[in-house]
Amino acid sequence: MAAERAGTSTPASPQSLLRPEVLALSAYPVPDASGLVKLDAMENPWPLPPALAAEIGRLLAGAALNRYPAADAPALKAAIRGALAVPEGCSILLGNGSDEIIQLLALAVARPGATIASVEPTFVMFRMIAAFAGLRYASCDLRADFSLDVDAVLDLLERERPAVTFLATPNNPTGNAHPRAALERIAAAAPGLLVIDEAYYAFGDDSHLELAARWPNVLVMRTFSKLGMAGLRLGFLVGAPAWLGELEKLRLPYNINVLTQTAATRLLADYPVLAAQARQIREARAPLAAAIAALPGARVFDSEANFVLFRVPEAQRVFDGLLARGVLVKNVSRAHPLLAGCLRVTVGTPQENARFLEALAQALADAPVPGQGG
Ligand SMILES: *Cc1c(COP(=O)(O)O)cnc(C)c1O
Repeated sequence: MAAERAGTSTPASPQSLLRPEVLALSAYPVPDASGLVKLDAMENPWPLPPALAAEIGRLLAGAALNRYPAADAPALKAAIRGALAVPEGCSILLGNGSDEIIQLLALAVARPGATIASVEPTFVMFRMIAAFAGLRYASCDLRADFSLDVDAVLDLLERERPAVTFLATPNNPTGNAHPRAALERIAAAAPGLLVIDEAYYAFGDDSHLELAARWPNVLVMRTFSKLGMAGLRLGFLVGAPAWLGELEKLRLPYNINVLTQTAATRLLADYPVLAAQARQIREARAPLAAAIAALPGARVFDSEANFVLFRVPEAQRVFDGLLARGVLVKNVSRAHPLLAGCLRVTVGTPQENARFLEALAQALADAPVPGQGG
């Protein structure tokens, strides 16, 4: 009987079973970087001091891999508070990268018809995760110089009534920071949550943690990925206990594994080492930007992050020319009309930056500038 029944029904296909918005997605592309100077993903290029790396090795060897990790990671949370100015009255929620926190927020507000909002161009995961959770995504554009058009955002909020608005500052992939006064105007007008994504806080001048204490609807999200722990996957959210207590219910109980808890807790005890590396990266940014700007045909945008966005006459050809010379950057030129012609390069070590600049000069010389022959 069972066989007979099985024979008469059509087996499910992905197309018949999955949500159309899932079928319409393309997976987040991660290129193979083996053998290349890897300047595409905003990683910290500096290794740990050998003594610290060795100590972490010993700690990891002693970690209880046979046990579940501490579910609410109290030691790690204390280490975060010890390293960073998390306001007293605020709670901390930990995520397996801040990507997981974006997903958790989306899951929490995913009523039928609910909307996530942001500005474009920005971090692609806001839009992608809205689709993952079956939410609408609404956005307004930054200005051509990538500055925030606050009136356009206020119109968007009024029109779309988003449950969550994400603003990254400094913004990825543009590199500029949004002014605090603009963020506060948006916080005051937002009908839902405003999540300030400070993935690049270590490379800019501002910290907005304190806004999470002053505005009941503001949450501040950070990650340690850009600060030397991309491989550990650790992000956190700061905000009022009333919000974070609800969100905790959706967090998978053991989302921060024991190796991450052990290593990150120890690394944060030496936060000045990480902060010094961030400072070094930050100090290399202006010379890198100036050297790109000095090349014929290249235009550079101001950055307060650990990367530089620049525009070239033929982005794909320049990207390919860099790749042919062993340097991987990110081609964002087709991600949004305002990014036409743009490539994004992570600030690397002095050696990596020099190799990139040499390759870029050659790649630009390959790619003829319209109107200048070739
Ligand atoms: C890199 C990045 C993140 C993601 O960080 P993970 O913690 O590695 O998931 C979040 N927001 C912005 C703006 C980023 O650029």
